[in-house]
Amino acid sequence: MDQDLEEAIKLIKESKYTVAFTGAGISVESGIPPFRGENGLWSKYNPEILDLSYFYSHPLASWKVIKEIFYDFFGEAKPNKAHLALAELENKGILKSVVTQNIDNLHTEAGSKEVYEFHGNSRMLVCKNNHHFEASLFNLEDLPPKCTKCNETLKPDFIFFGEGIPELAYCKSFEAAEKADVIIVIGSTGEVYPAANMPKQAKANGAKIIEINPEKTLFSESITDVFLQGKASDVMEKILIGLKR
Ligand code: NAD
Repeated sequence: MDQDLEEAIKLIKESKYTVAFTGAGISVESGIPPFRGENGLWSKYNPEILDLSYFYSHPLASWKVIKEIFYDFFGEAKPNKAHLALAELENKGILKSVVTQNIDNLHTEAGSKEVYEFHGNSRMLVCKNNHHFEASLFNLEDLPPKCTKCNETLKPDFIFFGEGIPELAYCKSFEAAEKADVIIVIGSTGEVYPAANMPKQAKANGAKIIEINPEKTLFSESITDVFLQGKASDVMEKILIGLKR
């Protein structure tokens, strides 16, 4: 790992355009489990609550579970050292942006400014007529929340199964893939598409891929140049120290 860590630090130091690409793994140390796997959220909850047609035909039943997971439980989470390290790197001009698959708002809370939320976020609610509201304006004891302009049911502004990627985030993410010469992939299996195409596109354009994960992934087997095995916060802390040398 030491030699790989040095290689990663060298790549970032020499880079003119470093971008981070993050998945559920970066938020595990903030107490939010991934969806899949042994202790994943889907081992406890039925993913049908995030199916668009099920949601609109069972808004109350869906919202009861959505509130429990994405507002009561996720709402307690705070950014960890890995989120904070990315914000610090952006602040120093080393990192240009974060492309995240996460919907938990922790990059923004950590202080990152250029954050492209590929799957949307839980911070906002949206109705079928595209009226947007801050979720914090609603009393989620009174479910389902209704649009104050058209009375349609509000859904969280992250994508459900069967929905497309938000256009602006999609464009910004692939623009970043075009410009990047280094991508730091943190805590993503590489199994979720089209998100996984972002680092793949960057690699095809000549970017070097640094990957941080306790486990090997589909990326490690295909596009990763430097694999740093470990937890996001431990490895990011070492990278920060190395960049200060
Ligand atoms: P994923 O593709 O996001 O993979 C999770 C990865 O995190 C795994 O490879 C795992 O080995 C790794 N990991 C676990 N602990 C880690 C740590 N401490 N440091 C670094 N990496 C660690 O898989 P998923 O959970 O099935 O997610 C599916 C989709 O749903 C993704 O788009 C994901 O971003 C999203 N999701 C978001 C959140 C959130 O907003 N926090 C939570 C769950 C899922």
